[in-house]
Amino acid sequence: MKTALFYGGTDIRLGEVPDPIPGAGEALVRVRAAGICGSDLHGYRRTGRAAAGPTTSGHELAGEIAALGPGVSHLSIGQRVGVEPRHLVGCGRCRWCLRGDTHLCPTRGRSGETRLHSTGFAEYSLEPADKVYPLPDGLPLEHAAILDVYACAVHALHLAPIKIGDTVVIQGAGAIGLSAAELYRVAGAGQVIVCGTHEKSLRAAKAVGADATIDSTQIDAVAAVTDLTQGQGADLVIEAVGGMATTLSADVRMATRGGMIVIIGAFQGPQALDMGESMRRELRLLFSNSYSLWQGTPEFGMALDLMAAGKLRPAEYITHRVPLERIAEGFALASNKGDSGALKVIVEP
Ligand SMILES: [Zn+2]
Ligand SMILES: [Zn+2]
Repeated sequence: MKTALFYGGTDIRLGEVPDPIPGAGEALVRVRAAGICGSDLHGYRRTGRAAAGPTTSGHELAGEIAALGPGVSHLSIGQRVGVEPRHLVGCGRCRWCLRGDTHLCPTRGRSGETRLHSTGFAEYSLEPADKVYPLPDGLPLEHAAILDVYACAVHALHLAPIKIGDTVVIQGAGAIGLSAAELYRVAGAGQVIVCGTHEKSLRAAKAVGADATIDSTQIDAVAAVTDLTQGQGADLVIEAVGGMATTLSADVRMATRGGMIVIIGAFQGPQALDMGESMRRELRLLFSNSYSLWQGTPEFGMALDLMAAGKLRPAEYITHRVPLERIAEGFALASNKGDSGALKVIVEP
């Protein structure tokens, strides 16, 4: 099959690998849409070669069932599906897997020395059949490719529920930030405020239902949040910037006394936290990492149900589409948001 091969940093080439063949309990998905994720960009921006030769990648994918392994009876060839990506599969035996928190499995996404992962940036991706979700008619595949993003926000909402009417500030207007804005809107927030640094993504934040947006390159975001909350601050601050963001100190000053900060963005290094101010405000600091089951129910499936019911606005995320042949261009667009205005770039293998 045709696949993108990642040689490290910005070196992405098109290549061929053998077609995967589904084993027992597996489904082969013909990929039709795969989103470029912020976590994909971490490797892209890193310089240097991949240690062990080129790799394949792509975990935000949707497509059609192309083949089924022995013992899979609940899916059929040609069926349109969303995919809970393979790197989230746990060992199934550790204490975290046994209680349903497979995202916390110490060996998740690995089998011995082998890294298990989806290959959305290829023609086909081999998946465990029970992580493949049939889609309702009329739900576009490119929307289903964003379900992985929404599932992260579903998990954050489970860990940090709000009361009706609470004010929620989202720091960061990327796809993860927007999905959190949407989930908290659906959950009954009184006011959802999104802070970002790119005009286009702040416009998208409005389009997905944010009540107010703050361009923190133009105005002091802490002062703006203070104004919008009549001096109270936000009940909940979602930190969704990630990378080497410098927003944590603002988060502390945006949160109301007794409020909470939830870290959902993936930081790439240590951060300084104002312990004195956090203590004075008696803040709760919480981390939300990926998703799995919530009291036995897959959070990916919950995201799908919300999307199928029309409660979410995935169309607002998709700014660019590129064929697999032009994936390098797609990564460049996704990596240079300031110039490209990219929010979610969809690769179409
Ligand atoms: Zn992702
Ligand atoms: Zn485990």
